[in-house]
Amino acid sequence: MYNITVIPGDGIGPEVVEASKYVVDSTGININWEEVNAGASVLEEEGTALPDKLLKNIEKNRVALKGPVTTPVGSGFRSINVELRKKFNLYANVRPVTAIPGIFSRYPRMDLVIIRENTQDLYSGIEYSTDDSSAHAIKLVTREASERIGRFAFDYCGKNNRRKVTCVHKANILKLTDGLFLESVRNMAKDYPDIEYEELIVDNACMQVVIDPGRFDVLVMPNLYGDIMSDMCAGMVGGLGLVPGANMGDEIVIFEAVHGSAPDIAGRGIANPTAVILTSAMMLDYLGEERSAGIIRRAVYSVIKEGVWITPDLGGKATTMDMARAIAEYVNI
Ligand code: ATP
Repeated sequence: MYNITVIPGDGIGPEVVEASKYVVDSTGININWEEVNAGASVLEEEGTALPDKLLKNIEKNRVALKGPVTTPVGSGFRSINVELRKKFNLYANVRPVTAIPGIFSRYPRMDLVIIRENTQDLYSGIEYSTDDSSAHAIKLVTREASERIGRFAFDYCGKNNRRKVTCVHKANILKLTDGLFLESVRNMAKDYPDIEYEELIVDNACMQVVIDPGRFDVLVMPNLYGDIMSDMCAGMVGGLGLVPGANMGDEIVIFEAVHGSAPDIAGRGIANPTAVILTSAMMLDYLGEERSAGIIRRAVYSVIKEGVWITPDLGGKATTMDMARAIAEYVNI
């Protein structure tokens, strides 16, 4: 039996996380879901948006499935998501973007993985204004964190049958910060002679991904570029409702889809559960349950290809739970 921390989160979070749990449970794997919430929905009751009992539960279980969490104004946190990543040293944000058969996309062969450095860059939270007419944000980059994410990207290739790493940067302008990031990843590349390695400036990388995504495999980059490029890539394969993700450290992993709380569709039961269901498949791979992970992925693809029980973002009329139930039925075929 696995003990997994579940954070339903805000907005569409509870709806898609529930759907995802339903599909995972349909595989018969014995999971004890320990639900402890964070974010706007717990602030009033708990007096904090990031309760201590959640941190303790994650520390105990070491694996969590998380919905999108909104950081309430006045909660004392700049971002709960960033806080969690820092607290547990979840330095690698892994976002595989793969075209799904049956979804119209101009990029049917897209299959790449974005590895985003998760702890530094313009997300380090060092921002101040000197007077009311100027504001500064510090882009923090260290050799240690850059080498660590570089090594992670090359190791990821080894573990996941990937062959090439592209380091995305803007070192032509940001000579010191992105320069250090680039130099660090380049240094790591030397230890992995069997893995192809290339470097691309971020603006060129965006254009190349849109022209020919098939030429990419694993892309490693600083935090901000990773944030933007993964939404761009999600759009290329059909939208944010489809792309899974994981925040990984050496000890603890929080699995979390790329999308946010989508307040525009929250509470209507129409959010696409695919991203969080594929996120749980990543979680099952991590737990060593690769067979069930594969079954879930194939079930998702079958339901989408069939095109009946799909949510409105994919052109269908199904609710979140309709789609989850259809996927669970395929799991048991
Ligand atoms: P955040 O600031 O929390 O990252 P955001 O405002 O950038 O959030 P999302 O919440 O990710 O953005 O939503 C962006 C758009 O994608 C919205 O129009 C939303 O409805 C849509 N979207 C996101 N997730 C899903 C989903 N699972 N199913 C359907 N549409 C979704």
